[in-house]
Amino acid sequence: MVATHSRPDLMSAIEDMGYRITQPRRDVIGLLDTKPDGFGAEEINEALPAVGRATVYRTIRLLLDVGVICKLVMRDGSTKYSLARVEHHHHLVCVRCGTVEEFSDSTIERLVRAIGVEVSGEILGHRIEFDIICKSCLDSAI
Ligand SMILES: [Zn+2]
Ligand SMILES: [Zn+2]
Ligand SMILES: [Zn+2]
Repeated sequence: MVATHSRPDLMSAIEDMGYRITQPRRDVIGLLDTKPDGFGAEEINEALPAVGRATVYRTIRLLLDVGVICKLVMRDGSTKYSLARVEHHHHLVCVRCGTVEEFSDSTIERLVRAIGVEVSGEILGHRIEFDIICKSCLDSAI
């Protein structure tokens, strides 16, 4: 398992995809950058009163499409959005405190490719999330 490090080029990733960096896009990314565990769409909306609701939702969708943010489905079925700090990664989500960690692992990717050979059809992508109890929650439970 490889520790992840921050991806400095989120803004240029947007431009590379042919989109302009508008103020709402900058605002949403800036907000998500303040909290690694991510925000719900409604929280983003409330934290950015200057940005209209429809724009917030459109911006979230665009950033998802571009791959700059991740959508996380929590155990209770709610969704959160967090910055994609590394390009391809998976998530460790603490079911107690909601902390989200990103990781990448070459063994998983090899396995995914091997499975892909057996799938009749085209695989477009995959998502892997682990529900965990994080170290600090374990420690505080003692
Ligand atoms: Zn992510
Ligand atoms: Zn935790
Ligand atoms: Zn993967």
